[in-house]
Amino acid sequence: MRVAVFALGGTISVSGRARGERLTGAEITSAVPGLDTLGVTLDVRDVHAVPSGSLTFAHVLDVVRDAARAVAEGADGVVVTQGTDTLEETAFIADLVWAHDAPFVLTGAMRQPSMAGADGPANVLAAVRVAVSREARGLGALVAFNDEVHAARWVRKSHSTSTATFVSPNAGPVGHVVEGRVRVLAPPPRRGILPDAFDAERLDAVRVALHTVTLDDDGAQLVGLDGTHQGLVVAGFGVGHVPASLVPVLGALAERIPVVLTSRTGGGAVLRHTYHQPGSETDLQERGLVNGGLLDPYKARVLLRLLLTAGADRDKVASAFAEHG
Ligand code: GLU
Repeated sequence: MRVAVFALGGTISVSGRARGERLTGAEITSAVPGLDTLGVTLDVRDVHAVPSGSLTFAHVLDVVRDAARAVAEGADGVVVTQGTDTLEETAFIADLVWAHDAPFVLTGAMRQPSMAGADGPANVLAAVRVAVSREARGLGALVAFNDEVHAARWVRKSHSTSTATFVSPNAGPVGHVVEGRVRVLAPPPRRGILPDAFDAERLDAVRVALHTVTLDDDGAQLVGLDGTHQGLVVAGFGVGHVPASLVPVLGALAERIPVVLTSRTGGGAVLRHTYHQPGSETDLQERGLVNGGLLDPYKARVLLRLLLTAGADRDKVASAFAEHG
């Protein structure tokens, strides 16, 4: 079996030797006990060795393209190591465009390699096992972490330091790695894959804002947003509500750019037809906001930016969120 490994920096690559120095992908994988006994050949490449907060959509899409080439050339699966901070977003970018059955598995670490109980080696070992697992084939992008397997669509970073930081509030982990065996218990359904039409220039031209609604929000941040951004995701209260005073500005924006409604709660769906007061989900949908469904604000922003980069109009945005949300 063969796995293409892409090392992108992050805590898993922080060297204990000198400030700012990073471990290479080969150093990361060679420090994993038991990896050499799996019978898996690793093709390790170093790309974008940065903290994950400095990654871009273009970086991720480059990796996806290189990974697709590796699979076309015979790799059975792909492992990406990166920082955990943005992994929930990068995983969803990959998931939306990954058109192969070969597993695309992301992982990282919460503890640096020189720390007691460093989790990077166990996570890499689990990720490689998932990458070559028959059960993981056809499931798109997955996150292997803390011996759990999460679907890119659901996974979230839920804690700033815990090694159990990755959770999937709406679905739970889709699988586990048990005594080295990958058990997929709840395979996530694949949804439509976006055709790859994302060059860096077009991505740069598409800005999607995220506005989290807060108590007594006066909406000043939103005024004129359509002059600088091509789309907006609103993280509303609860089931998708905003203060009544925000309705005019959101309605006006929705006439000019796609505005997607999500929940700031971290779990559950935006409702469609339960409340009717000004600022309710029903009111906002009537004013043209697109229901984000079960997608959290960060995932919704990923989808909207890719859709707009691909040239989607309002109807295409609405139907994509109906499918993915
Ligand atoms: N937690 C950071 C990340 O997600 C790691 C910082 C670093 O790489 O130095 O990438």
